[in-house]
Amino acid sequence: MGNPTSRRDGRMLGRGALQMSALARRSVGSLGVLTSRRLTTSASPPKKDTLRNLAARQSLAGQVVLVRADLNLPMTKSGPVEITDATRLTEALPTLRLLMDAGAKVVCCSHLGRPKKAKDEAARARLSLAPVAARMSAELGVAVPAVGDCIGPSVTEAVAGLADGGVLLLENTRYYKEEEKNEPGFAQAIVASCGASVFVNDAFGAAHRAHASTAGVVPHVQHAVAGLLLEKELDFLYGAVAAAERPFAAVIGGSKVSSKIGVIESLLGKVDTLVIGGGMAFTFLKAKGLEVGDSLVEDEQLELAARLETLAKSKGVELILPTDVVAADAFAADAKVATVGADAIPKGYLGVDNGPETTARITATIARCKTVIWNGPMGVFEMAPFAHGTVAVAESLAAATDKGCVSIVGGGDSVAAVNAAGLAPRMSHISTGGGASLELLEGKVLPGVAALDDAP
Ligand code: ATP
Repeated sequence: MGNPTSRRDGRMLGRGALQMSALARRSVGSLGVLTSRRLTTSASPPKKDTLRNLAARQSLAGQVVLVRADLNLPMTKSGPVEITDATRLTEALPTLRLLMDAGAKVVCCSHLGRPKKAKDEAARARLSLAPVAARMSAELGVAVPAVGDCIGPSVTEAVAGLADGGVLLLENTRYYKEEEKNEPGFAQAIVASCGASVFVNDAFGAAHRAHASTAGVVPHVQHAVAGLLLEKELDFLYGAVAAAERPFAAVIGGSKVSSKIGVIESLLGKVDTLVIGGGMAFTFLKAKGLEVGDSLVEDEQLELAARLETLAKSKGVELILPTDVVAADAFAADAKVATVGADAIPKGYLGVDNGPETTARITATIARCKTVIWNGPMGVFEMAPFAHGTVAVAESLAAATDKGCVSIVGGGDSVAAVNAAGLAPRMSHISTGGGASLELLEGKVLPGVAALDDAP
């Protein structure tokens, strides 16, 4: 865990790792340029080296391979800690199996949640990856030890005891604030602690962030390649953008307005229809001057939301915002609810789902589209009474896909909702990355991809 003692270890290891950096074969400098470059929508996937190619070129037997997976699995927020959707883990398994079969010593790492936002030590402790290691053991059929840190002597010891073909899981990299700051000493320490010579990035869901474990580690290994999942995601999503058939709609929901607003702006230049639902819709409704009661609103985004609505008009994009909502008098499944017009949310109530009129408009739009990307639920779908709008989107998207629409679902919660409804097999592509898939569709270069070796 990221306590002061282990941070001290990090500095020690950072110094030790400086020797390693002298061996590093790559220069650190190019990322800044790469991250700010933009591709056009017709871009083909970046030509990066892949694990498949590397494994075909050379033996990985006995080599320590650091795998950055995206094991940021949705978990219960209270009560016993349980994984509520294991899609990202399941999708990470092919890369792990390939490496195990190749006889590599597999050191897996990931972040989980946002420890820096945890309100207390107990909330922070819920973000341990130990339960994920247990699930990984069950899936792979081998014991996967959970190391209690991601740098330091405990990691070095655990790797020393790892057999060829074995796997271990490091602790949540975001327990260290240095992870998100991409601090070079911390990145060095991750590599030096486990002694990896090869880095495999398979964390598509985190590839849009230049963090220590997604990009910072690259200069300190001999090979940095894309894992099977990362490769699959890039192939599909680049293909979808290049060949997006119209009508093309984006359905954006969830709670994080500030993290998705930039993407919304850029999607306005690509789609025919933009649907905004879920918690983020209320910032847009308030920006239109509507009374939104106690609904989720990010006041600092109001101006931008108003500007985006004007931009949608000027670009001729149909913008669908809720016209009716399900409002509850508390954030609880047994709250008193009322279905009201979006301009008539009573004081003391908050919007928790799209109303039936809004849902009907959205599903009708999906039914006539040839390409739909969906990120973020339409309401507080974890509570059954507020899941109708989200389930309706999932069902209409599955039905549209049956008729030839290309459907792409991204984002932990939207994917969980699709899985819960048993509809995942009917979608064209379930992406393990929410923000990452949106940024890629937006045309941005993902720093976690840009940092990897170019294809030989
Ligand atoms: P990503 O993986 O990219 O973060 P996501 O699909 O997980 O995307 P989020 O932005 O994380 O989407 O938002 C999901 C959360 O939003 C859910 O926990 C859901 O309960 C919450 N949410 C949806 N609608 C509302 C609402 N009206 N009020 C409050 N919370 C809401």
